[in-house]
Amino acid sequence: MEQPCAELIAVGTELLLGSIANTDAQFLSRELAGLGIGVERHTAVGDDPQQLREAVEAARARTPILITTGGLGPTFDDLTKQVVCRVFDLPLTQHLEVLETIRSIYRDILHRPMSENDRLQALLPEGAEIFPNHAGTAPGFAFCSGGVHVLMLPGPPEECRSVWAHGARDYLRRLSPGVIRSRNIMSFGMGESAVEFLLHEKMCRMVNPSLATYAKPSEVCLRATARADTAEEADALLNPVEAEVRAALGDLVYGVDVSGLAELCLQRLKERGLTLACAESCTGGLIAQRITALPGASAVFRGGVVSYWSSVKAGVLGVDPALLETHGAVSAPVAEAMARGARMITGAELAVSVTGVAGPDSDERGNPVGRVFVALADESGGVYCRHLELGSRSRELIRDEAANHALDLLRRHLDGLPMALTVPDDKKGNQY
Ligand code: ATP
Ligand code: MG
Repeated sequence: MEQPCAELIAVGTELLLGSIANTDAQFLSRELAGLGIGVERHTAVGDDPQQLREAVEAARARTPILITTGGLGPTFDDLTKQVVCRVFDLPLTQHLEVLETIRSIYRDILHRPMSENDRLQALLPEGAEIFPNHAGTAPGFAFCSGGVHVLMLPGPPEECRSVWAHGARDYLRRLSPGVIRSRNIMSFGMGESAVEFLLHEKMCRMVNPSLATYAKPSEVCLRATARADTAEEADALLNPVEAEVRAALGDLVYGVDVSGLAELCLQRLKERGLTLACAESCTGGLIAQRITALPGASAVFRGGVVSYWSSVKAGVLGVDPALLETHGAVSAPVAEAMARGARMITGAELAVSVTGVAGPDSDERGNPVGRVFVALADESGGVYCRHLELGSRSRELIRDEAANHALDLLRRHLDGLPMALTVPDDKKGNQY
């Protein structure tokens, strides 16, 4: 089955000035990938009819699906509709139903009179399919002309999403019959570029199923998408891809179709009937936050301590002051004692801990930015510690990655895997 492709044109001078990021393009590209539609080009143009016309003319000659965002509103710079329809030689006519909807939004929700300009939002090409906008006034719409499907969506992200969900997605789904299935293969321990390097050739060769990487700050999701006549056939196409990714990344793959390490840990803790606690220094409650953000966390998460000062590590968690004195707060013995202490004071079977230097300055003992110790205390009284040198990244990234390492220790313990994180080729990533 051939994969259809699309181009996106974002309209808005603020995109060019760097005032806002083109998050609509990010959102739509992911959604389109989920429909098995490959995005071949992103273009951003200012609120300039000439620039826009050139971009649309060029896209029309190349792509069967063109999606524009922005410039559908009522202000003088909102010209997308007028320009695009002129390129496709389609007259705009007043759409009475849309006009009535906009009028009722002003009357019943916004409680202000509708201006003459607002009426412009009801000018649409004849025969266009309308997508209602539940977050604003300007609807989205689509038409097909000369073999090109054109979809026009509003710019504000919540409006773009609303219009997508209320018609645009279904319009595109109808263009390509069959079933689309995606699988998100989640990995932790190797950066996106290293994962891509390892799987580069495979990813370039693959069309159906396709394989793409999506990076979170310290995790990589590999999304495999297959298009087929039936769900079974799509699954049959995805199975070998998942197997190949698992073979390439080994136990760095921690799950499929889970949102992150925290969700996987929560699932495993529930399955095993175990409870968790945490003791956090430089992550300041990030692990507790990740776990408690998930529904059902109360079944397994007993609580956590943010022990920023040594006096709290000693006084609340019971870390021996002599350990703190001898090794310093950022050390393996203290991380281990923190995890043991969290287990002890909460009664949880398992506890994780983090202590480290998130930066921007090294600590008073000369520990460099990015030096972090994460530890796990287990149900049999054992304790395991991982020493990380995360380098001089931003404070946010160090904290994010440290929290993930603690969760990685937990999932390795729960899955009975080796606790050490070993990347498939140690020249292409960090080894801990
Ligand atoms: P409005 O009715 O609000 O004028 P519109 O469809 O005319 O909607 P624009 O005027 O182009 O959209 O943009 C309105 C706002 O929407 C921008 O100031 C910006 O905050 C946001 N926006 C526009 N395009 C994008 C985009 N591609 N990605 C993220 N945000 C966007
Ligand atoms: Mg506007």
